[in-house]
Amino acid sequence: MKAPRFKKLFAQLPLLNQPQRLQLLDALHPAAGLDRVVALIAGIRGPGRRCPDCSCERCHRHGQANDLQRFRCCQCGRTFNDLTGTPLARLRLKGRWLDYLAALLDSRTVRGAAERVEVHRNTAFRWRHRFLHWVKHDRPRQLTGIVEADETFLLESQKGSRKLDRAPRKRGGKAPLPGISHHLDCILVARDRSGQTIDAVTGRGALKKSQLVQHLLPKLDPQALLVTDSNAAYRAFARDHAIAHQAINLQSRERVRASPNGAIHVQNVNAYHRRFKEWLARFHGVASWRLSNYLGWLWALDGGRVTSTEQLLRIAIGPIHS
Ligand SMILES: [Zn+2]
Repeated sequence: MKAPRFKKLFAQLPLLNQPQRLQLLDALHPAAGLDRVVALIAGIRGPGRRCPDCSCERCHRHGQANDLQRFRCCQCGRTFNDLTGTPLARLRLKGRWLDYLAALLDSRTVRGAAERVEVHRNTAFRWRHRFLHWVKHDRPRQLTGIVEADETFLLESQKGSRKLDRAPRKRGGKAPLPGISHHLDCILVARDRSGQTIDAVTGRGALKKSQLVQHLLPKLDPQALLVTDSNAAYRAFARDHAIAHQAINLQSRERVRASPNGAIHVQNVNAYHRRFKEWLARFHGVASWRLSNYLGWLWALDGGRVTSTEQLLRIAIGPIHS
């Protein structure tokens, strides 16, 4: 629309009554959402934008596609946009992304998010995991001071798989074997007293020392004091890697022990397990192989770490070259 006609249209806006204003807002909402998300993406990527192929920082504008500015690298000549190489590349309906991110911040179920954003349930589900793909990697670099570590278990789930490697269970089923067995997924959580938290889905069955080496060691400050229950895997892990270690004997009803460094217990990490399981219940069972996405989702929400859609979008599209 040309400027004079728009001016005339704009001048008439005060004549609208309330239902008409609401109708207009509704009609503009998707376009406004698109404009906002495009501006946000450009704002996030703009400083330090570089070619995803060769990392060259020199590029020029090269037309528009899929609502985004395209760029052409001055060095290798490849074209890209600000989402190239991210889990969100080629995802459609950008005008609804911010509403979808708000649904993630609200821990909406697939059905709830689909209704709110007005997309199909399958889309809401696919988006969930695209948006969370990099959110789960947004973790503290290191755990320091007193570091509590403990594992928790969930019944393994092959939800959504075409082929089960066991007999199907009834909904809300129980593990067929008592105790820790290969019917349970092991989730390791470690948390320091400043609240920094890491987790890992270590697979089915009991936690092994090698898994602690793989998941915990790279994140553990060498000066940290590791606090765990009396599981022998932690003891062996700490001994092998010369990590200061205190074990709480929960079986003998020991809960807290005083020490010069602070109270020795695993109550923070156990509370985190509890929060995770209580929060997860709304989703009525999630597939084992997607558990890490849910752990990342909770970590974003826990303690109000991520509170705005903009912040969540920034994490979801990640740093350049993630
Ligand atoms: Zn390049």
